[in-house]
Amino acid sequence: MKVLKFGGTSVGSIENIKNVKNIINDGEKKVVVLSAMSGTTNTLVSIAKHIEQDQPNEALDVINKLHSNYFNVVDGLLTNESLNKKAKDYVSAVFNLLVECTDKTFSKVIENTILAQGELLSTFMFNCFLEQEGVSSTLLPALDFMRIDKSKDPDITYIKSKIASVLDAGPDADIYITQGFICLDNEGNISNLQRGGSDYSATIIGAVLKVDEVQIWTDIDGMHNNDPRYVENTRPISNLSFDEAAELAYFGAKILHPQTVTPVREDNIPVRLKNTMNPEAHGTLISSDTTENGIKAIAAKDNITAIKIKSGRMLQAHGFLKRVFEIFEVYETSIDMITTSEVAVSLTIDDDKNLDKIVSELEKFASIEVDKDQSIICLVGHSVVKHEDTYKMFQILQDVKIRMISYGGSNNNISLLVNSKDKITTLTKLNDYLFELVTL
Ligand code: ASP
Repeated sequence: MKVLKFGGTSVGSIENIKNVKNIINDGEKKVVVLSAMSGTTNTLVSIAKHIEQDQPNEALDVINKLHSNYFNVVDGLLTNESLNKKAKDYVSAVFNLLVECTDKTFSKVIENTILAQGELLSTFMFNCFLEQEGVSSTLLPALDFMRIDKSKDPDITYIKSKIASVLDAGPDADIYITQGFICLDNEGNISNLQRGGSDYSATIIGAVLKVDEVQIWTDIDGMHNNDPRYVENTRPISNLSFDEAAELAYFGAKILHPQTVTPVREDNIPVRLKNTMNPEAHGTLISSDTTENGIKAIAAKDNITAIKIKSGRMLQAHGFLKRVFEIFEVYETSIDMITTSEVAVSLTIDDDKNLDKIVSELEKFASIEVDKDQSIICLVGHSVVKHEDTYKMFQILQDVKIRMISYGGSNNNISLLVNSKDKITTLTKLNDYLFELVTL
């Protein structure tokens, strides 16, 4: 059995939905995880924002527009009259629920209920479409088995037992269609796995069902060796290890949710990244294979804040870092990069929600400098720290102002912190010399 997940663009138009049907219709048993149609979750976020800001009329405008877009999709997809009616009844029920939400007092549960509707719509319509095309499939409602615990991690024991009983109780089918992204929280309210979380849904399901492979289908030929939005001539990477993929996903490769490989890594379940618009392309295979050495990819993560903590009390003292880390712990802010000297510690965070509070706590025992608009450039590969290409990096970047370097923390990653305005130059220079073999 395999799990195949299709992202927003893959189900974002009638033509693409038809492509998805062709890809999955091969007679093999599988679970198909779908995202919402592209743009839908953003629109649902804007509806929730209007309700939060007490703007019910603005929310209703957006709801009505989206409702009629969905009717157009149903008309384009479902020529069978009774399936067309069945889908429209479902779509209308969803939009009635959204309209009811505009009258309610805003809460996290209301917001999450609104956000969940995109995946519920795409899976219902797709299942009707498969029925029309004579493909045997059944819906496997994610809210019947997907749950997170108090710390917002997937509750694997619960998911395992629930999914088994849902599969046993339901009709047998070759294709089970389920929603990505959505789940219940530990109190049984609708919640989600954070934006882009359908990838994570797919690998959680893959891990609990111990499938042969998880496939993530998007609109690009796999993970690229640099960011195609900023650098020309990037290429797909054919193989990555779990560690390399995790570093890339965390440090900016937008194609994967940062947690994607976590559930499958222990059981060595390979994850294949494929392109719905070009199914023949090899894509990227993520597995435990770590035979290729050297730098394989570069990624960038923006909106980073650097904090320099300087204190005479650090000199030959112990316990200083503990004090610093405790403050970040209290404000639930994770640290990405860190370097230390005898009198200062520099670190970076990407969530600056509690920056002011953190800084004022730190100022009680140290002087603080804050630099916003920084980017982490992350070089990922196997044994990168030892590899000969790595030493060239310092020559390549001799004109770039590097604010921090994290080197040797892991064998798979070297991170550089630069001002965001230098990001594209840094990515391009590294690309030219590391991948295009331009000589120095
Ligand atoms: N629809 C959700 C989002 O746009 C989840 C996903 O697509 O993975 O974030």
